[in-house]
Amino acid sequence: MPDPSGFLRFGRRLPDRRPVPVRILDWNEVYPPAGDNLVREQATRCMDCGIPFCHDGCPLGNRIPDWNDLVRTGSWASAVESLHATNNFPEFTGRLCPAPCEAACVLGIGDDPVAIKQVEVSIIDHAFADGLVTPQPAPEPSGRSVAVVGSGPAGLAAAQQLARAGHAVTVFERDDRPGGLLRYGIPDFKLEKRHVDRRVEQLVAEGVVFRTGVDVGVDVTADQLRAGFDAVLLATGALAGRDTPQTEGRQLRGIHLAMDHLVQSNRFVAGEFVTGEVTAPEITAEGKHVVIIGGGDTGADCLGVAHRQNAVSVTQLDRYPLPPGVRDEGRDPWPTWPWVLRNYAAHEEGGDRVFSVAVQRFVDDGTGAVRAIVLADVVVERVNGRGVVTQVPGSEREIPADLVLLAIGFEGTDALPALAQLGLERSDRGTVEADENWQTGTPGVFVAGDAHKGASLIVWAIAEGRSAAAAIHAYLGGTGTLPAPVRPSSRPLAAI
Ligand SMILES: Cc1cc2nc3c(=O)[nH]c(=O)nc-3n(C[C@H](O)[C@H](O)[C@H](O)COP(=O)(O)OP(=O)(O)OC[C@H]3O[C@@H](n4cnc5c(N)ncnc54)[C@H](O)[C@@H]3O)c2cc1C
Ligand code: SF4
Repeated sequence: MPDPSGFLRFGRRLPDRRPVPVRILDWNEVYPPAGDNLVREQATRCMDCGIPFCHDGCPLGNRIPDWNDLVRTGSWASAVESLHATNNFPEFTGRLCPAPCEAACVLGIGDDPVAIKQVEVSIIDHAFADGLVTPQPAPEPSGRSVAVVGSGPAGLAAAQQLARAGHAVTVFERDDRPGGLLRYGIPDFKLEKRHVDRRVEQLVAEGVVFRTGVDVGVDVTADQLRAGFDAVLLATGALAGRDTPQTEGRQLRGIHLAMDHLVQSNRFVAGEFVTGEVTAPEITAEGKHVVIIGGGDTGADCLGVAHRQNAVSVTQLDRYPLPPGVRDEGRDPWPTWPWVLRNYAAHEEGGDRVFSVAVQRFVDDGTGAVRAIVLADVVVERVNGRGVVTQVPGSEREIPADLVLLAIGFEGTDALPALAQLGLERSDRGTVEADENWQTGTPGVFVAGDAHKGASLIVWAIAEGRSAAAAIHAYLGGTGTLPAPVRPSSRPLAAI
């Protein structure tokens, strides 16, 4: 039984991030590993509240109080077993999840919540260090086969679940290496790629075949996949970046989608530009005044990259007002996900954040390149559920900008030839719809992750990958049932 008074003895503590002047000189993760004593102390703050709302806050339904107590008593091996029962890749979520579980922690009503995410990542790091994460190949083959299209967290989670159930799984990935956004979207200072490589090795040892550099719909048709496999899972992500073509000056050189910047940077950090004709990223912040349009995760990642590329200045623009520092109980009562100011590690490293502004136009330097942005203060009001933006008269001003990065969201999955070949259309949100069994309108074709939910989170991608795998296993007539999270739509707290 957990220690019911641990939270009275210990406050919430996290390990210090590496010092800013040191960490912006490299691309390594900003957090050093936490010591066992700190983690066990933090796990002790979990108070056995009776109804663990954190469970419901976590889209995976992670058994948080169970593994908190196992860590408290130093039972690391049992803790990772409990964690792996619901989460294939805790090293990704433990590093990158915004932790809706912590927003729903009962201790958070009157105190700081338990540092759940820190405990999670420490459990899995411990397990890898102790050699406890080993391949778990299926005892016998099922004789059925599945093609997974896309190797982001949704595709990887589904592939692992299905392979462990004995199905012959082939993952098709159009990039040259597996991982999806884990590999080429998220920078190394948030997730070093050795974590992705290590899991891919485990999947290969469990029998999963990876065919990289294969664009399904182009290099191999969807019909060929349907003919060659008993089921197909689309886990193609939501990579269609939102643009702003109507803004005056958008065609100027030096204005890019954020993902173009991030992919080049990640490839550079991976050593992919060391040989060959191109030896450095073409889109770089070095020596530039950088303006990032968009105040979310992607924008913060561009910010951290820009610091490491030696930008002269970085300004991040957000059209929404400065959020409050703490939960507004009237608007977002506990245990819902609150609208609060999110400070990422990159914000600690420098740069300016400007709220309640919108770009009016991009200014030409006379050679066809951007030299400045004209912006204006705005007010965003919700009218009939939609955000209506009104400009504040007389607030227009110019700021220098010779690299502009558009981090204003995604419009669903790309308009892939594979979808047309399968007779599938994208919804108004750019997603591929599925029935309650994760099956699209085309029999035997399933969908999971951002391609289904729209641009979201790693924890959701893993949850949907597990759920789709369980549905595919049932469709294939597999023995027993595969574990899967409770159907997301019935999780009242899982609002993000
Ligand atoms: C910059 C950035 C930072 C983020 N940071 C965080 C974070 O800190 N925390 C968090 O929880 N979430 C974060 N996210 C969101 C998270 O990365 C995604 O929600 C998650 O990766 C979605 O997983 P997925 O498997 O559905 O798709 P993806 O990870 O997008 O993977 C889809 C894969 O499908 C492949 N593919 C597409 N079409 C084809 C085809 N025709 N043939 C073969 N392969 C194909 C793509 O190449 C890609 O590899 C971030 C997103 C971005 C863009
Ligand atoms: S996956 Fe995210 S929500 Fe679930 S326990 Fe981990 S940090 Fe919390």
